[in-house]
Parts: sequence; structure tokens; C-alpha cells
Amino acid sequence: MNLDLLFSSFMHEIGKATSEMEVYKALLNSVKSVLKYEKALVMKEDKVVYYEPEMLDIHKFEDYIAWIKQRLLPAFFSEEDKFIGIIPIVKQNKLLGVILLLTKNEPNNEILNLLQTFAFLTGVTVENLILLDQIKKSEKFMSDVLNSIKEGIFVLNEEGKIEFLNDFAKEILDLDPHINDFLKSAINDERKILTKEFNSHYYTVVKVKFNFSNETKYVVTFNNVTYEIELEKLKQLDKMKTEFVANISHELRTPLTAIKAYTETLLNMEVDRESQREFLETVYEQSERLESLLNDLLDFTLIESGTMELEYSEFDLCELIKEVVENLKQLAEKYNVKINVNCESVSISADKRRIKQAIHNLVDNSIKFSDKSKEKRYVNISVEKKEENLSIIIKDNGIGISQEDKEKIFEKFYRGDRSLTYEVPGTGLGLTIVQEIIKLHGGKINVQSTLGEGTTFELVIPYRK
Ligand code: ADP
Repeated sequence: MNLDLLFSSFMHEIGKATSEMEVYKALLNSVKSVLKYEKALVMKEDKVVYYEPEMLDIHKFEDYIAWIKQRLLPAFFSEEDKFIGIIPIVKQNKLLGVILLLTKNEPNNEILNLLQTFAFLTGVTVENLILLDQIKKSEKFMSDVLNSIKEGIFVLNEEGKIEFLNDFAKEILDLDPHINDFLKSAINDERKILTKEFNSHYYTVVKVKFNFSNETKYVVTFNNVTYEIELEKLKQLDKMKTEFVANISHELRTPLTAIKAYTETLLNMEVDRESQREFLETVYEQSERLESLLNDLLDFTLIESGTMELEYSEFDLCELIKEVVENLKQLAEKYNVKINVNCESVSISADKRRIKQAIHNLVDNSIKFSDKSKEKRYVNISVEKKEENLSIIIKDNGIGISQEDKEKIFEKFYRGDRSLTYEVPGTGLGLTIVQEIIKLHGGKINVQSTLGEGTTFELVIPYRK
């Protein structure tokens, strides 16, 4: 009998086993080729877990088994004309089980040693299989937990490569592959928490750095907060609409009250010619204010329905600016604001009425939001020619716009906090209209502002359609 060959065939068999039962089967197979047995079984914690080909009456051998369990060494006992062999499965002095054999032949020492080695290796393999099973179970448990979370979880390495992602993370990545590039940049971003929009969904993104096996890793989580943000926006819009209604009533009532009071006076009292003229001028001014308010409302409905249209014509932009300044002369005097224009004659193809309206709204704002605490108040209007565009720059040294307000001033009905505090007349529609006009012309608006210092609006409009 070639023991080396037997040993290596045992190793081969046992190595293929994927379950505890397969290990015992391989073990008894190999034992059989060393020692022909009639019956064999494997016990674990006093229970038979495997037998071949038939069960043995273990109660008869309980004393032997108990003795072997104490000694932790194999032994064969004569039983009538046969032998009963008991081989403990031991690993590091710990009993994992026993093998029971009923055989006609008593093995020699060499075979006994081999059986002992088989038993030991079986113990090691079974323990490894149990350990592997536990690892697989806990891995499955962890992945089930992570996949049940309705939050996208990404684990990245130092280069920003995804090393793990849960089911929710897969879903959002499928919806918008840009997330991949974002993740790469996110690991170098100073911010640990931020809100980002992907594919019309808003996410609160949280980044945590950690160390694993001496390597830096990042966990980046995506929490979908679209509902909360939409709700917040709706609340904001609702608040702005309420303010708008209150504001518009005020905006309507003020000129109406003035018109009514002056006409009543003119109708019921003797007034000299000079005062008559003064009163009528006020009535005219206030009706103009009403007219412009109605025009703004009309324009707003055009924007909302997407039906604002442009009528292109060729005109001199500087002439137009001068007209705007002329129209706003009285308002500028009232607010003690000096308007300076720096413009060389330049022809442009655009909607004259709408461009005039846009410039008017901006200059009107610059005057309205001038800073009363400053002795010299100004609005500088200049035009710069660029390759394909014209830039109209309106710079004031007024009260300025806060960073927070700057992000919202183009929204419909939005009025900066300070316009309410300073009781500046308006509807919050001016800039919405300006933006739409410039957008329809294929241009854009830039704003720069510092609180307390002033504001610069730049309208960039293409020369031609
Ligand atoms: P309104 O002037 O009717 O309030 P707008 O849409 O024209 O509405 O402007 C929105 C807001 O932008 C204003 O309420 C104000 O807070 C801010 N704003 C606009 N222009 C200026 C400016 N030149 N200086 C300071 N604040 C400004």
C-alpha cells in the first residue's frame, strides 16, 4: 500500500468538498482504502452526522467513546470476532467529533497514525468550511442591510474609483452617469456635505473619509431630498405670491389715491393756474405709474405662457439709452442720483421697445435702490463693443445685493428683503422680465454686487439676430 499516494488522494478528495457531509464522505472513502471496514460513522457532539453503509449501535460503545474523548487518541477494541475502532477528530486539543469503525482487522501503528492524520485534517477542513459559511452569511447579511437602505452608498478609493455601491446607488448612477465624474471631483472637494441636482432629483451628499488596511477610502452617501426641496420651493412661492398680492394692492392704491385726491381738488376747489398745472402733472405721472404696472403684469402673463415675441429693427443703442435717461430724469432728481452715460453711437439689430424696457428697468432699479446714506449717488451707463456682442453696463453705488438675494432676484415676484424694509415701490417682476427679454435675444445677464458698495448689471446682447 502506497501511503503517500493514499494521502495525496485523500487531500484531493477533501479539497473538493464544499459541505461538511462531503468532507465526511471523502474521509470514509479514504479510510476504506486503508482499512476495510464493515460499518463506519462520524459523530459530532454525541450525534451521528454521517454513516456508511449502515448505522452502528453506538450505545454499546458509549464507555469506549467517553474514554477516547478524554484521551484524545485513537484506539481499537476487540468486539466478539471483530474490532471497534474509535478515532477522535482533534484540532488544537479540542475535540470536534469522533469516527467509529467496525472492522475485521486491527490496524498496525502506521495505519493508526495515518487515520489520526486523516481525522486531524478532516477537523481542520470542517472548521474552515464552517468559518467560510459564517463569513458568507455575515457578508450576505451586511449586503442585505446596505441594499435595503434607501440611500445611495458609494465606497471610493483614493483615485475616486468606485469599489462598492449598494442597489440604490446603482439606480441613481443608471439614471445619471455624470455622478461618476462628480464622485471623482467630490473626494477633492473641501465640503463634507452639499446638495446636488442630478437628472431633476436633488440629493444631500455626505462624504466621510476613513482608513482601511492602511489605505484611504471614502464613503459618499446620496440622500434623495427632492420632495423636501420641492415643498420648500412651493412654500417660498406661496409666500412670494401673498407678498405680491399685498404689494400689488399697495402699488395700485397709491397712484389711484393720488389721482383721486388731485382730481377732486381740481373739481371742487378754486385753484390758480400754476397749481392746476402742478396737480395735473402729478395725475399724469401717477397714471403713467399705473400704466407701467399693468404693462409689467401683461408682460408677465406673456412670459408665463411663453408667448412673448420680438420685433426686430435696426437702431442706435446710444440714442435709446439717452431716451431712457431722459424718461427717468425726474425720478433721478427725486432720489438725488446723477446718471452718467458713456456711449459712442452703435447700431444694433434687436427689438427696440423691449431693449428699452430692459434698460429702463435696470436704471430704474439703480435709482430706486440708491443709498441715501451716501452724499454722491450715481448710475454709470456704458456700452462696450465685443466681437459679436454688445455689452451694456449699468453700475451704481447703491445699497447692493446680498449673496443670498443675488441667487433669487431673477425669480418671479422675488423682492429682496431690503426693498421691503426700505419701502421701495415694485412688484418683483422687473428682473424676471429683463431676463426673458435678454434670453429671447440670445444674450445673457451678469450681476456683480457688494452690500453697501453698489451693483453692476451687464447685459450681453448679440449685434445681430
Ligand atoms: P422690484 O424692483 O419690483 O422689487 P425686480 O425684479 O426689479 O423687482 O428686482 C428684484 C430685487 O432685486 C429687488 O427687490 C431688489 O432687492 C434687487 N435689486 C435689483 N436691482 C438692484 C440694484 N440696482 N441695487 C440693489 N438691489 C437691486
